[in-house]
Amino acid sequence: MMPYEVHLAARPKGEPRESDFAFVEVPVPEPGEGQAVVRNLAMSVDPYMRGRMNAVRSYAPPYELGQVMYGGAVGVVERSTAAGLPEGATVLHNAGWREYALLGEGEGRVVEVSAVPATAYLGALGMPGLTAYVGLLDIAAMREGDVVFVSGAAGAVGTMAGQLARLKGASRVIGSAGSAEKVAWLTGELGFDAALNYKDGPVAEQLAEAAPDGIDVYFDNVGGEHLQAAIGAMNEGGRAAECGMISQYNNTEPKPGPNNLGLIVGRRLTLRGFIVSDHNDRAPDFYREVVPWVADGSIVFRETFSDGIHSAPKALMGLFRGANVGKMVVRL
Ligand code: NDP
Repeated sequence: MMPYEVHLAARPKGEPRESDFAFVEVPVPEPGEGQAVVRNLAMSVDPYMRGRMNAVRSYAPPYELGQVMYGGAVGVVERSTAAGLPEGATVLHNAGWREYALLGEGEGRVVEVSAVPATAYLGALGMPGLTAYVGLLDIAAMREGDVVFVSGAAGAVGTMAGQLARLKGASRVIGSAGSAEKVAWLTGELGFDAALNYKDGPVAEQLAEAAPDGIDVYFDNVGGEHLQAAIGAMNEGGRAAECGMISQYNNTEPKPGPNNLGLIVGRRLTLRGFIVSDHNDRAPDFYREVVPWVADGSIVFRETFSDGIHSAPKALMGLFRGANVGKMVVRL
């Protein structure tokens, strides 16, 4: 049987469907000079992939119809003449949804898997972890003593943002998520001071209760009602890192935005968007600080696995229904 790769078959309208994806059998690639063949162990599914399925130019170019869904993956080098990609090494790369990848020199990075699973480099120690680090510390400029609110708090980025806020001296860390189980995990193992289930009632009301003295920093993964509630709760000089707005990615037409933007003026608020790939220069600082915290258990991470390449579309769609606790990963 030949290995598979996943292609974009059709551009979704609203929520993606199985028929928007095609599974294509391809031979195991033959490495040329300076190339490496990697057998993937796991592939990442990330919310930004939904945006790339649209034919809209954004910070990342759209996927082409009939082409592979590119994205993060980890695998083992099986055959190689590529400098820096030795046979037997575990590598992180961006060749995406396929069982075997052909990499050129510089297209993969060897990762250390003696202390953490390879999949950690798709989540806590990878792009989502760096996103949390840059968003919290550089974009929202969190300071010791701040009250920090994180939406999407039980996901890959949110779990890291909340734990980093605690370790960086936030006076109170509040998270929001979409189930009682997630909320209990946030205030339990993850050490958030308070957490709310946004499906239980208006976010603004629940946030006012969880943050009686207001919030100083908002780490936004969700947008919409959460953003409006956060603006309403912000103290003077409050800062929001606009990381993502997952509540809107499947919208087929624009929805009304926050109705309280006027508060930005009087309260001197800053709402600042960012894209993690503009901040790769911060990766060394991120690893220097965060790897020891993961090693000594100060930061914990969880992964939700779906099994087999054929489960990838369902895993991606699951992100929009909160099917994941921590990082969603497709195990091959
Ligand atoms: P997550 O692991 O957080 O998975 C997505 C989560 O979003 C789900 O588990 C679900 O949890 C929640 N969610 C889905 N739909 C809604 C909704 N309508 N309202 C509220 N919550 C919802 O994904 P990531 O950690 O990978 O990404 C988090 C955010 O960060 C996304 O917006 C993503 O686009 C953004 N991002 C931005 C980057 C950047 O460079 N700016 C880089 C990486 C990610 P629940 O059960 O709580 O609903």
